[in-house]
Amino acid sequence: MDYNLCDINTVDRLLKKNGFRFSKALGQNFLIDDEVCPKMAEMLGCDENTGVLEIGAGIGVLTKELCRVAGKVVSVELDSRLYPVLEETLGDFDNFELVEGDIMKLDLAQLMDEKFSGCSSVKVCANLPYYITSPVIMLLLESNAKIDEIEVMVQKEAAERLTAKLGTREAGAVSAAVQYAGEAELLFNVGRESFMPSPKVDSAVIKITLSKAPNYKIDSEKEFFALVRAAFAQRRKTLINSVSSTLKIPKGRLDTALYELGLDSSVRAEELTMEDFVKLCALLK
Ligand code: SAH
Repeated sequence: MDYNLCDINTVDRLLKKNGFRFSKALGQNFLIDDEVCPKMAEMLGCDENTGVLEIGAGIGVLTKELCRVAGKVVSVELDSRLYPVLEETLGDFDNFELVEGDIMKLDLAQLMDEKFSGCSSVKVCANLPYYITSPVIMLLLESNAKIDEIEVMVQKEAAERLTAKLGTREAGAVSAAVQYAGEAELLFNVGRESFMPSPKVDSAVIKITLSKAPNYKIDSEKEFFALVRAAFAQRRKTLINSVSSTLKIPKGRLDTALYELGLDSSVRAEELTMEDFVKLCALLK
C-alpha cells in the first residue's frame, strides 16, 4: 500500500488504528511537509551502493524517501508502538530493515559493520529526536563507525551551534567535536508548521562531511575535549575561571599558557579558535 505520509488525515487514520499517541518525551514531531523528505534524500547524494542509517523512523515518512535513493536503509526506532505502523508503511521496500531499540545503547560500529558490509559508503540521515541532539551527534562522531556523512534535521539553535566555527559566539564544545572530525554546513531551514504536532521551535537541516582522518593533530583526544568542555562549562566566565574550577588546574598555570599563546588572561572560551585550543592543550601537558 502506498500511503501519503504527509497527508494529515492519512496519518491520523494510521495512528488511530494502531492506538498511537504522540510522546513529547520521545521528541515525536513527524514531518508532514511533502517537500522536505525528498529534498533531504536527494541532498544526501546516494546510489545503489550507499547504506543509510536512520535514527527514529516515526511512521517512515523520511525512511520511504531514503529507500528510494539508497541501496539499503536501516532505521533504529525506540517506540514499539510504531513497529506495526512501519510494517504497514514500509512493507513494500525490500531494502529496509528495522532495528528495534535505543540508539544511545547500541554498539554503532558493530551494527554498521554487520548491516552495511556490502556498501561502498555509509551515511546517517534523520529527523532527530531533539532531546538527544548533542549526545547522538557525539555518539556518531566518537563511534569509530565508518560514516562518510551525517545529514540531520535539528532545532535551529542547535544547527547554528553545530555548524559554528570555534572563535565565534555561536560555538560550543560540540562545535569543536564537529570541527575536529569533519566539516559542517547548514543546508536549509524548516519551519515549525512542517511537523505534526507542530513544535515551539523552528528547525534546520545540516550536513557534516566527515574527514578520513581527524582535521587536527592532538595527543590525547580525551584530555583535549575535557579542556574544551571545561572552557565552555561556564561560558560567561573567563576561560581561566571556568577551566580552573572544573578541572582543578591552578589559575597561574592557565595564565602563563594563555600568555604564551598571546592571549589575554580575561579571554572567554568563545574567543579561542580550534588552533588556540590545540596549542593550549599541548602547553598544559
Ligand atoms: N523520522 C520521523 C520521526 C521523527 S520524530 C519523521 O521525520 O517524521 C523522532 C523519532 O525518534 C520518533 O519516532 C521517536 O520515537 C524516535 N526516538 C526517540 N528517541 C529515540 C532513541 N533513543 N532511539 C531511537 N529512536 C528514538
